[in-house]
Amino acid sequence: MSVYKYAKVPEHGEKITIKVNDIGQVIPVVPNQPIIPFIRGDGIGDDIWKTSQPVFDAAVSKSYGDSKKIHWMKIYAGEEAKEVTGEYLPQETISAIKEFVVSIKGPLTTPVGGGFRSLNVTLRQVLDLYACIRPIEYYNGVASPVKNPEKVSCVIFRENTEDVYCGIEYKSGTNEANKVRDFLVNELGANIREKSGIGIKPISQFGSARLVEKSIAYAIENNYKSVTLVHKGNIMKFTEGGFRDWGYEVAKEKFADRIITEDEVWKHHDGKTPEGKILLKDRIADNMFQQLLIRPQEYDVLATMNLNGDYLSDMLAAQVGGLGIAPGANVGDGVALFEATHGTAPKYAGLDKVNPSSVILSGMMMFEYMGWSEAAKAIKNSLQKTIDNKTVTYDIFRDIEGGRELKCSEFGQELIKNM
Ligand code: NAP
Repeated sequence: MSVYKYAKVPEHGEKITIKVNDIGQVIPVVPNQPIIPFIRGDGIGDDIWKTSQPVFDAAVSKSYGDSKKIHWMKIYAGEEAKEVTGEYLPQETISAIKEFVVSIKGPLTTPVGGGFRSLNVTLRQVLDLYACIRPIEYYNGVASPVKNPEKVSCVIFRENTEDVYCGIEYKSGTNEANKVRDFLVNELGANIREKSGIGIKPISQFGSARLVEKSIAYAIENNYKSVTLVHKGNIMKFTEGGFRDWGYEVAKEKFADRIITEDEVWKHHDGKTPEGKILLKDRIADNMFQQLLIRPQEYDVLATMNLNGDYLSDMLAAQVGGLGIAPGANVGDGVALFEATHGTAPKYAGLDKVNPSSVILSGMMMFEYMGWSEAAKAIKNSLQKTIDNKTVTYDIFRDIEGGRELKCSEFGQELIKNM
């Protein structure tokens, strides 16, 4: 085990390890008493983590008695890390997330004037957490801007390392922008106006194929009916179109016996997907937006590049009641970091007020990833029951009739009571 200067490795508990499963995916091998590192988070992170950890422990103990237990390991990132270690993101935090395979985090402030764009983006890049996974599901009783939010049940796999996330941009008028423009205009015959800001959007075969592969493997393991590749390949043929083509290629190469394309279904099966097959389709991004508003029930797992996935995730989260209850995970091969999708909401920090559901549902995803499905179900059912009882935090309370507004910590206690 590595030596940690600031984090304290729990005395008891074991490391989660990894193995490759029968469909070629790296999956965790979880002991009964795993050590799980957590980053508390900045701003509202403290309130939320204090509320969430007891909920996770209760879900485990109510599901498995004494036979399973999590040993939490506090690791540092963000403002707390700066205070304790002098750095916003100490190397040992990155090492711990790698070494212990599964971790969970609260929101982190993006430090102004730091050497990087965002701690969250840095974590994803240095750990190669290439799939941002967002399940979007409706909990009855939460106010929604659409008529049938219960029809939404999707899981987005958004590519996390390429596209606009590469951050290759040159400010208009700088030497760099002029150089790039000169090269494109003079050497390659491109037509670019003077004083353009220039951004570069690389999409690779490697990056696209591994993301699509992960999304199909997830659909297989979780019995979803379809996977949809989202792209704007009609306009950007070699980036967005490349993503689509490499997606179909990897599906054929790795999962030929499990998937069937829409073309094949219409050609050979009268438009009906044969039993046991997963339908692989693709949609142009703008069409996808309206489809997900008018016919969300036709879509299950979505595989997207970075920017398209960013828009779609938040649009779907809005349909089911907002970011306060949307969970997420950033997953690579053999390392997974579960996280809230909202930020640090500094105006609410320390008020014991906000909704902890985003981190709690990220924990639910973490349990599913670990194969602890009973604990995951305990959380899901108790959240639904707590919302049914209209005992909710301010954000849900302000949009429903009747009910009782609870503090963040009280909401956590209510979840435990309702398990
Ligand atoms: P934000 O912290 O997500 O807050 C925006 C608004 O969302 C809040 O004012 C609140 O709305 C609502 N909200 C957020 N979390 C909530 C919760 N748990 N329960 C109920 N409502 C919640 O976004 P921001 O103000 O743009 O960003 C603040 C900081 O967070 C920035 O430093 C940003 O870089 C960082 N950030 C971090 C992450 C991450 O760590 N993954 C993600 C996004 C942003 P009302 O005002 O309507 O109550």
